[in-house]
Amino acid sequence: MAKVEANKHIDVLTKAELKDFSGFIGNFSSVVGEEGGAEHTVDHGVVVLATGGHEHRPEGYQLEENSKVLTQTELEKRLAGKAKNRAPKSIVMIQCAGSRGDDLKYCSKVCCNHAVKNALTIKELNPASQVIVLYRDMRTYGYAEDAYREARLKGVIFIPYELDRKPVVSEEGKKLQVTFFDSLLQEEVEMTPELVALSVGIVPDGTEDLSKLLKAPLTDDRFFLEAHVKLRPVELPVSGVYVCGLAHGPKPVDETIAQAQAAAAKAAIPLVKGAVSIDPIVSVVEQEKCIGCGICASL
Ligand code: SF4
Repeated sequence: MAKVEANKHIDVLTKAELKDFSGFIGNFSSVVGEEGGAEHTVDHGVVVLATGGHEHRPEGYQLEENSKVLTQTELEKRLAGKAKNRAPKSIVMIQCAGSRGDDLKYCSKVCCNHAVKNALTIKELNPASQVIVLYRDMRTYGYAEDAYREARLKGVIFIPYELDRKPVVSEEGKKLQVTFFDSLLQEEVEMTPELVALSVGIVPDGTEDLSKLLKAPLTDDRFFLEAHVKLRPVELPVSGVYVCGLAHGPKPVDETIAQAQAAAAKAAIPLVKGAVSIDPIVSVVEQEKCIGCGICASL
């Protein structure tokens, strides 16, 4: 970040938001508002959207009510600290908390890897710790499969749960209780772990407002929709606007970096060429058929 800020060809505006946007590829104009109220008009040739995302906070798992219920990111921070008791004696991890059917319909792709990574760190810090992962599917694809195998070998217990019998987190006195149906034992199991870690999904940041300003479409899940999933995966249907990272969909860091490089390379093409051919298709109003509904103006 310091290297970027030190570059005299790059202006960095933090805590800023896009207030207005107009123009076309090669000739865009954006009004950017800063936190203190100052506004800048920036003329630019292309746009790369990399607006990121944040953790979803599902309801119904005591996440906001009980300090012993954490998200995987919060657990990771705790494990990276210096406290002696940072690795719990027992922990239950619940996969797909609020995802794949509840609040979010999609799979966020990273939370299974995150859970396995944290489980391995706990086992490294405290090999006697009891780590139980309640899952619907373990989606540790690619090289992450090795970490999943390692976790099993080190004693992490993976127990599947069914969609219609999700684990329930409750408070019993001062203790945290997790109740779930073990489909292998065919019975209800109650546990009182020291901590509960939720594998929550990812939601995009600010895409709805940006989509209105840029007139760029979103998916049902509020991520930016690429122009073509195979042929133009980092371009939006609006010419000159490119997308990468969590603004486009949940993905791990390595995929995000690859997509960011692709978006930067694509965005550089019109800039390096120095000229663009404008799409020859231009819409016109047929006065005799127009009823003045105004729908075309909002598109
Ligand atoms: S990555 Fe794993 S925990 Fe996350 S939504 Fe997908 S299946 Fe569920």
